Amino acid sequence: MHYDVIVIGAGPGGCMAARELSARGFRVLLVEREALPREKACAGFLSPEALRLIEGAFGGLPPQCRNEEAGALGVRLLCERGGVYDFPFSGEGVSVERSLLDAFLAGNCGAELADGYEVVDFDLRRFHVKALLRKGEEEESVEATYLVGADGAGSLSLRLVRPEFHRLYAAPRLEKGMLVVSEGRADWDARWMGLAMTGEGTGLARFFARGDRISLAVSIREGRGWREELDSLQAFLSRRVGLVLRGEAVRNPTARNRMGAAGDYNLGAGCALLVGEAAGLVDPWGFGIRLALESGRVAAAAVADSAGENITPHLRYRYLMQPLLEEEIAQRRRFAGRVGEVDVSALASPRGRRERGDRRALRRRLHV
Ligand SMILES: Cc1cc2nc3c(=O)[nH]c(=O)nc-3n(C[C@H](O)[C@H](O)[C@H](O)COP(=O)(O)OP(=O)(O)OC[C@H]3O[C@@H](n4cnc5c(N)ncnc54)[C@H](O)[C@@H]3O)c2cc1C
Repeated sequence: MHYDVIVIGAGPGGCMAARELSARGFRVLLVEREALPREKACAGFLSPEALRLIEGAFGGLPPQCRNEEAGALGVRLLCERGGVYDFPFSGEGVSVERSLLDAFLAGNCGAELADGYEVVDFDLRRFHVKALLRKGEEEESVEATYLVGADGAGSLSLRLVRPEFHRLYAAPRLEKGMLVVSEGRADWDARWMGLAMTGEGTGLARFFARGDRISLAVSIREGRGWREELDSLQAFLSRRVGLVLRGEAVRNPTARNRMGAAGDYNLGAGCALLVGEAAGLVDPWGFGIRLALESGRVAAAAVADSAGENITPHLRYRYLMQPLLEEEIAQRRRFAGRVGEVDVSALASPRGRRERGDRRALRRRLHV
């Protein structure tokens, strides 16, 4: 079977690319290794910009995707020495159930959907890609003119399209972690994504509340395992917000690629374009849905612009993405006003000694 475009990964980046290409008349195959709806470790905070991108391409968000109990205001940071800082979105966003959001996007993108199929290999030539798909024991190959790699943090597409970049920049910055979800309670406004900068921890831990469920997300880094980070976080949150957990916890491994923190994004090569986390697009707070949607939209435009001409879309994509990448890098350097999805004015010009210390520590831990 020959398609115009194979899209790997039915997260927000892949669904947006598939939607925009299908709407322009391209024959698109969207391949997702999990059967949908699939679990995705995510807090489900959509900024107003992310929501606008979804509504612009897919129409209104169906009520079942929304978490009605809470909106999404941004990030609230708790520091070891007592500091509390709010970094708001540009307005109130929404909170979603990620598994249902992604299933909605995939089901409404207009592409042929092959869920439950993993892409295990592909061969890339100029204007030709042949991908090998696997489902259980079954294998099948499909061909297309273009490829969009939207396969997230541990991207196979990045590894196959740019092996040297993957080895030098992406693999060393792949940060693994654990999301632990338990029943429990805490004195916490669920509209904020919580960020904890504990004294013992080396990174930044995240936490969020949904109804009577509390989720704690920690990373494995600098010789500390996730259990040690989790213990530090739990002790910190029980002191600061009265966290009490009960019952069995459910664990979900997480992965995030921090290559973009050093400005090392990779948008692919030739006829293979990388979007979302596969390209390193995630902001310092760990929000990546808006960037995935935006890059999926731009990748589709680049393919459409170059189709029919004897040029591969990669350079066009790079050119169209340049302002967004420059803005991301400039925001991190300035660390004032908006950084990624949120406004950091609460720590932009710290007055006291404690605030100055918190700001320095935060920048160090965010690697910005
Ligand atoms: C704990 C946690 C909380 C987060 N909270 C937020 C938040 O509140 N707001 C926010 O904006 N961001 C959040 N993020 C980040 C956000 O989840 C990601 O940045 C975003 O999902 C990236 O989208 P994507 O489309 O690039 O990739 P993904 O959403 O990761 O989708 C990639 C898809 O590709 C599929 N895939 C991978 N390999 C293959 C293969 N070989 N063949 C076929 N399919 C494949 C995967 O199964 C997956 O469905 C959070 C991340 C974590 C870990």
